[in-house]
Amino acid sequence: MIEQARKYLQEYYGFTSFRPGQEEAIQCVLTQQNTLAVMPTGGGKSLCYQIPGLTLEGTAIIISPLISLMKDQVDALTSYGIGATYINSSLSFEEQRSRISDMEQGRYQFVYVAPERFDSQSFLSTIKRIKLSLIAFDEAHCISQWGHDFRPSYRSIVQTLYQIPNLPVIMGLTATATQEVIQDIKQLIQVDDASVVNTGFARNNLSFRLIKGREKRDFILEYLEQRPHDSGIIYTATRKDADHLQNFLAKKGFSVGKYHAGMTENQRKQVQSDFVQDETTTIVATNAFGMGIDKSNVRYVIHYSMPMNIESYYQEAGRAGRDGEPGDCVLLFSGQDIHLQRFLIDQSMMDDDKKKDEYQKLQSMVNYCHTHVCLQQYILNYFADPHPHEPCGKCSNCLYEGEEQDMTREAQMVLSC
Ligand code: ADP
Ligand code: MG
Repeated sequence: MIEQARKYLQEYYGFTSFRPGQEEAIQCVLTQQNTLAVMPTGGGKSLCYQIPGLTLEGTAIIISPLISLMKDQVDALTSYGIGATYINSSLSFEEQRSRISDMEQGRYQFVYVAPERFDSQSFLSTIKRIKLSLIAFDEAHCISQWGHDFRPSYRSIVQTLYQIPNLPVIMGLTATATQEVIQDIKQLIQVDDASVVNTGFARNNLSFRLIKGREKRDFILEYLEQRPHDSGIIYTATRKDADHLQNFLAKKGFSVGKYHAGMTENQRKQVQSDFVQDETTTIVATNAFGMGIDKSNVRYVIHYSMPMNIESYYQEAGRAGRDGEPGDCVLLFSGQDIHLQRFLIDQSMMDDDKKKDEYQKLQSMVNYCHTHVCLQQYILNYFADPHPHEPCGKCSNCLYEGEEQDMTREAQMVLSC
């Protein structure tokens, strides 16, 4: 069957060889083992369920947290001549019904759904009746309550799943999972040790840089002046910062859009599509921006202030360089950032245990901002990357080793005060 998989790789996608981990993951699924694939962003996770979906008989159900992502994937599959659709709340009720009925007729090899779809009786009774080739959880870290983007509806599917007669092979795919999250996913979707394919997290085309003690806006101004044509994202911690910074940069003549949850859906769509089509060069955004945006030529990601944890940081910074070309990831740190993030956790609705967990993650983020070791190594160690790594030789710690570092007092204190 793996020969068939190789044939599909060429025939449908026009690729000559598999990327690291793809063949192993595909092989596991084809031999009916529930599989977890952990690969970096841009590593090619989609193929790991698409090729088995083409090879095995029946319909593949892909559970994906993002509507925009579903449409892109379905468009791509359809352009290869593969029967694919998505069923979600962006469609009219009639359209949903008609797609479910087409699914029942076996018209689709791939059906993308949001987790909430499993609450729908008509959908459930259909998937109980038809032949399924596999079920894949894309962005599988959403299933774990330890994941940084936990979605309760993802988790509740698991209970529903095990009531499906003839349950097919199940797959999870993620780019960001700590050991804790990996354990959780493995247990939930019943994956053996042998069927965890973990290629590690290293993105060797990214360079990490920490900037402390500089006026942040001045830094950004200088930075953008040096690379006026490069596409990039600047993340702020609050909407207010996004508004101010975008306004400031636009007044200086830069092509810069903004994106946050305080804008209307139409405004956001417009900004996003201008950016993806290179009509705007830079985007200033809160963390509402990015998931599911497939733009491969982002050359830099600047964090205007420190994010809440390493998971978010690596995911956001990792939006640079998805095409494999160099990507620059700059974090502008000031002591005040810690207070802001602490405040956000304090104010949240989380219970005390969860808050404690978040403070601990924040502490690791603060430690990143004060470490003397290679920044890439620090991140990979944090995620317990299974492969050993030499210092990267290009992050700010590797480059400026030995220069005086300011160990601010705030560094020690997330948990202690
Ligand atoms: P991920 O979901 O892991 O972030 P995608 O599945 O979106 O990554 O793939 C990222 C890019 O890599 C896509 O443009 C895809 O076509 C390309 N790609 C995937 N597998 C291969 C391969 N074996 N050879 C060449 N390009 C590939
Ligand atoms: Mg993906």
